[in-house]
Amino acid sequence: MDMHLSRIRVVLVNTSHPGNIGAVARAMKNMGLSRLVLVAPNDYPSAEATARASGADDVLATARVVETLEEAIADCALVVGASARTRTIPWPVLEPRACAARMVETAVRQEVALVMGRERIGLTNTELERCQYHVHIPANPGYSSLNLAAATQVLVYELRMASLQRAGKTEPDWHSDHPPVTAAELDGLYEHLEQTLIELDFLDPDNPRQLMRRLRRLYNRVGLDQMELNILRGILTAAQKAASKYRKRR
Ligand code: SAH
Repeated sequence: MDMHLSRIRVVLVNTSHPGNIGAVARAMKNMGLSRLVLVAPNDYPSAEATARASGADDVLATARVVETLEEAIADCALVVGASARTRTIPWPVLEPRACAARMVETAVRQEVALVMGRERIGLTNTELERCQYHVHIPANPGYSSLNLAAATQVLVYELRMASLQRAGKTEPDWHSDHPPVTAAELDGLYEHLEQTLIELDFLDPDNPRQLMRRLRRLYNRVGLDQMELNILRGILTAAQKAASKYRKRR
């Protein structure tokens, strides 16, 4: 069981209060998770974090501190962002139980990240767009924002339950003959796509509207494998060549 959980990391973005970092470490260790990544924490390392971690100071000691969310999730095949509310455009939102099942399923083979937002403002739209799914704890609609460590506790509890349940099963029903793409590879695709759409005069860089956001959502949803990504990049390169030939001829 713990084999699946060991491929799931918890990413805390820009946490203000070190006490919350400690409390998250404790919540994780209680549920059998050990990989914590801190993106630009405000006040860390800190005695308060260690105190709140209680017996989980080993999770803190091995926590990775990075500058950007991109670094924290670069090698992940599945990235889920925890959000207390909905944003600009609708994104696939899972409830914690279904979300945990999917994360544990992916973690059988690939790296998975659960991304938690800032205490005051949560995750930005740009950060949320890096996630294939959002997970929302269906709390009291009139007061739906949980404390950061409390929200993490609920979600890692569901991960443990999903992992316990999956321990009875063997292999996932289907997996591709090629490995899934990582977040960094998807970023490369989106940059290439954006550039190509500009060259094709399909995307106006002065008035991009929601196009790239919608395309990200589309490709995030299908779970591309490496071969499919290579095909798409090949098509983009061919389109760029054709567009430049056409431009020269005119
Ligand atoms: N005021 C912020 C909430 C921050 S709470 C906002 O409106 O976005 C800190 C973090 O805890 C959030 O970014 C989110 O990752 C998590 N969280 C809090 N409540 C949650 C909920 N109901 N469902 C999922 N995640 C939640």
